Amino acid sequence: MSIKVLPPDVAAKIAAGEVVERPASVVKELVENAIDAEARTIRVEIQAGGKRLIQVMDDGCGIPENEVSLAFARHATSKLASIEDLNQVTTLGFRGEALASIGAVSQLTLSTRPAEQAAATRIRIEGAKQVSQGAAGAPAGTIITVENLFYNVPARLKFLKANATEAGHIHRIVSHYALAYPHVRFSLQNENRTTFQTNGNGQLFDALAAVFSLQTARQMIEVENHEVADQNRSPESSQPVTVYGYTGSPSLHRGARDQIIFFVNKRWIQDRALNQAVVQAYHTFLPVGRYPVAVLNIEIDPAEVDVNVHPTKAEVKFRESRLIFKAVQRAVREAVVAASPVPTYGAHPAPSADIAGGLGGHAGDSVPWHSPFGGQHGSGFNQLGFEAQRALSGSGELDSQPGYQATDDWLVGEPSDPTKMPPMRVVGQIQQMYIITEGPDGLYLIDQHAAHERVLYEKLVAQKAKEAVPKQQLLEPAVLELAPGQAAVVDAELEMLTAVGFEIEPFGGTTYRIRAIPEILGQAEPGQALVDILAEMADGAIPLARETHEKIAITVCKRASIKGGQVLSYEEMRELVRQLEDTSAPRTCPHGRPTMLHLSAAQLAREFGRTH
Ligand code: ADP
Ligand code: MG
Repeated sequence: MSIKVLPPDVAAKIAAGEVVERPASVVKELVENAIDAEARTIRVEIQAGGKRLIQVMDDGCGIPENEVSLAFARHATSKLASIEDLNQVTTLGFRGEALASIGAVSQLTLSTRPAEQAAATRIRIEGAKQVSQGAAGAPAGTIITVENLFYNVPARLKFLKANATEAGHIHRIVSHYALAYPHVRFSLQNENRTTFQTNGNGQLFDALAAVFSLQTARQMIEVENHEVADQNRSPESSQPVTVYGYTGSPSLHRGARDQIIFFVNKRWIQDRALNQAVVQAYHTFLPVGRYPVAVLNIEIDPAEVDVNVHPTKAEVKFRESRLIFKAVQRAVREAVVAASPVPTYGAHPAPSADIAGGLGGHAGDSVPWHSPFGGQHGSGFNQLGFEAQRALSGSGELDSQPGYQATDDWLVGEPSDPTKMPPMRVVGQIQQMYIITEGPDGLYLIDQHAAHERVLYEKLVAQKAKEAVPKQQLLEPAVLELAPGQAAVVDAELEMLTAVGFEIEPFGGTTYRIRAIPEILGQAEPGQALVDILAEMADGAIPLARETHEKIAITVCKRASIKGGQVLSYEEMRELVRQLEDTSAPRTCPHGRPTMLHLSAAQLAREFGRTH
């Protein structure tokens, strides 16, 4: 084929794909625009998970009539004038791409009126083409209605998930912005039902309660304006970094890291290193494999951070990432230590380098992000190395690990029937996490957690097929207040949750009464178990194609199974291995990760130089 310049409509759709991945990306851009317009009230309405309709209404500054059409041109923005301005971005938007992109892949109507203008301007765009523009009556501010997203991009449409999943992503976006802007009144309406709102009174605590539930907010510790100025810092960067917000007391923890939330100059960002800084700040305070909840604002000179590294601006680059890492870790650590009645780490906050040192260069470290710290192992090495592996076993990111492919020989599956498992002799346990066994062809390392997950999963599926899932009735029903997003999941999946052994009934608002839990959850605290399961389902670590009922079963089994860090007796190990042999797919856990690694006799011989 010869080289041709793409027709503008094709180019527009391709470019739009970078910014608009799913309905939640549209909500993110529109909410950001409303915030940039200094709105005090932002109302989001969605239907069919945002696929059919997304409407964002604000009472911000509006767009003057003569600029409305221009706002939909690519690279048209009122927020940036020159390249120098890029060093001092104080608005959420600056790329001038969102409206153009959204307009290219949907049918969109915008009505907007600056307060000083008598009438509003109404414009209609369909697939990047302006269909009409005229005057209309509307309150001051802007209303954007986006209908039939991706109606002209079938390839994208196909990849969208179930309405509830897409709505969940939207909920996450709106609630996160509500945390960053407590003085803005947010509301989210899903299918004409208000699923989330804040009062806009400026109190972060109230926003926390709206997002996580009052019960959770009460278990959080305030991280007060924590300024960090570093001696080693380059002299030209004069302003200190400020960290403030809330972080969970050690009694509050979750099975996943997705409730560690950061804002940099009020922009919600994802940053794995900072996430790790918070996790490390809880060193020794939390049970292994559990993660804190935190909402942290980082205020920094805009010149110190590059916000233009990602089309959706979800990630940023710090000029001095090490300093930010330390600032976050210290702020959280000090808040937690100060609030903790029995300091388990010693009376003084540990020097952060000690805590931080562990992850960087540890050879077995397969955590797919890197601490900005170098390789020396601080005193926390063992615990942190261990945590890292635990985190991995729950993260579903195995295939993104460097080295995973390189260790082919360690992968099981090559010998004869890859689905079957040879008879094995248990040798022992290491790291309270792996069972060593001997099979006919060498040595096997079995991940006790993954193996148990597989065993429980098949058991549960079989019981479910016979509609005979054993449950434990609680003597005293547990009353649980859920966050609105979680409540929506419970409402939507009540039948499935019942099918795996839960008995849950609505108890007014977002409060629920748990009467029974699946028997396999054992002695678990019922409310905590349900919250973990909901968080895990939202986390998306489960292969996406799976059906919801399968997802729930997988999550319940994950919660119920033996964790790393648990010492097993020889009998327990033997029983587990025997049960694993009986499963239909012993070599992978329900998430699709391996349950065992194999070091073949031939490989052993080779490694020891016994073969010629
Ligand atoms: P950016 O936000 O990067 O500037 P957008 O495509 O999102 O680019 O928006 C283009 C321009 O339209 C903005 O710069 C702003 O001037 C105007 N605009 C968009 N949404 C709103 C709104 N809700 N209220 C007022 N002005 C808006
Ligand atoms: Mg914008």
